[in-house]
Amino acid sequence: MMAKFEDLKDKTVLITGATRGIGKAIALNLAAQGAHVVFNFREGKEAIAEEIKKEIIAAGASNATPIMFDVTNSGQIKTAIDTFTKEHGAITGLVNNAGMSKDQMVLRLKEEDISQTIDTNLKGSILVTSALSRTFLRAENVSVVNISSVVGLMGNAGQIAYAASKAGMLGFTKSYAKELSSRNVRCNAICPGFIETDMTESLDEKVKEAYLASIPLNRLGNVEEVANLVNFLLSRASSYITGEVIKIDGGLYI
Ligand code: NDP
Repeated sequence: MMAKFEDLKDKTVLITGATRGIGKAIALNLAAQGAHVVFNFREGKEAIAEEIKKEIIAAGASNATPIMFDVTNSGQIKTAIDTFTKEHGAITGLVNNAGMSKDQMVLRLKEEDISQTIDTNLKGSILVTSALSRTFLRAENVSVVNISSVVGLMGNAGQIAYAASKAGMLGFTKSYAKELSSRNVRCNAICPGFIETDMTESLDEKVKEAYLASIPLNRLGNVEEVANLVNFLLSRASSYITGEVIKIDGGLYI
């Protein structure tokens, strides 16, 4: 079931990592609200970005604009955002969704995997948000939604770097909310549990079964359920909520 938020019509929202999974569902759901959907793609993935743009327009977006940057590359982020803003005006919604995980028990954890995970999930979200912050200060009804994870709250064996990056996003969310709320810029985080996407597809069957046994609602979540929550937080329907962390996990971490 898709919830409708009238004020998202024509709102310009940047979603990172919208080429697949949760990010793509968020992009399509926002498109159905009539938003101008801006999404990043990595160098060399121009053809995929054009396909996604068509899907977003077909889903009802007032406009769809792919912009090229890797969230770990501050130069690319700045260039893409400055160019977009000059041409189309202010971005007033941001969903920091791009993320990755390379799961490994502590003794096998490689330094480059720790760096890549923290750089993508945590530093990447901060870099993109920072690049937009000057615009945010001058705009109205700005809302930032950070896609953390329930493992950032509860921890998880085999996910040390990933859980640390996602826990870090919560500190970032609360600090950013405190820093910018006087300018009416809101920032919240959501913590999805086990959602069906490419990322969870690659998990071991036994791990999946163990998760399922510990989810009170007894099923995995779906991407549309996450997209509905993101739209609520982007919309003025949540105008008195900032610095909040909301779990969407079927009760996994009660
Ligand atoms: P997917 O692996 O399906 O998609 C990840 C997306 O992030 C892709 O679009 C990918 O782009 C993009 N991305 C990864 N690294 C970079 C980078 N360096 N620069 C730019 N884009 C990048 O992930 P999900 O949809 O499952 O997850 C989305 C978010 O939700 C992640 O932050 C994840 O941690 C979080 N999450 C997911 C859960 C789940 O159960 N699925 C549970 C809790 C949280 P590309 O196509 O170029 O690779």
